[in-house]
Amino acid sequence: KINKKYIVVIDPGHGGKDPGAIGVNGTFEKNINLLFAKIIRSVLSSNNIIVKLTRTDDRYLYLKDRMNFAEKAKADLFISIHADASKNRKARGFSIFSLSNKASDKEAKKLAQRENNSDYIGGLRIRHSDPLIKDNLIKIFQRQTMNESAKIANIVIKNIKKLSIKNRGHRNAGFVVLKSLTTPSILVELGFISNKKEEKLLNNKAYLTKISKIISLSILNYFNQTN
Ligand code: ZN
Repeated sequence: KINKKYIVVIDPGHGGKDPGAIGVNGTFEKNINLLFAKIIRSVLSSNNIIVKLTRTDDRYLYLKDRMNFAEKAKADLFISIHADASKNRKARGFSIFSLSNKASDKEAKKLAQRENNSDYIGGLRIRHSDPLIKDNLIKIFQRQTMNESAKIANIVIKNIKKLSIKNRGHRNAGFVVLKSLTTPSILVELGFISNKKEEKLLNNKAYLTKISKIISLSILNYFNQTN
């Protein structure tokens, strides 16, 4: 049992004017993402975790605002929820993404050049007059956060093997929404709504509940490790 009150921010991808991917039978990704977010919120809440959603209804949000939401909430973990689509109708399976090393260094460089965003990194106030220190600190903070993100992604992938679902593994990409310096962040692709079978599954609450329980278990495992 965990005594500390952990905060998890769940980010249902897309919303409002942005439907996300559209399924073979017309399912909007944004609706699946929101449905899943609400299911995992109830599973995590029943495990003594504080859960906040970046959106609880059908609205549009900028990626940066989603990331900022998690940082403002002082989240211990940020999870962005998505469903995949491919022109290849046979493509299917579950994936977890975390930020890659390469993308991170590039982003760190960019961030260092942006004066306005460099005031607070990991709660420390950085002096603007020393760009080199500022740059190095950004790199250190982002590396630590990336390591934590990779850790949780690997736990999820290990646990998801318990489900009879095609597992595409832990992969890396430069998602804007994952570029927090302070909040470990992962992105989940629940499955492909461009695949007829998976589109049907992703509309099935029992199926989404199964996945949400596995991810919740992984989150608890991760918090127990860091405790
Ligand atoms: Zn998406």
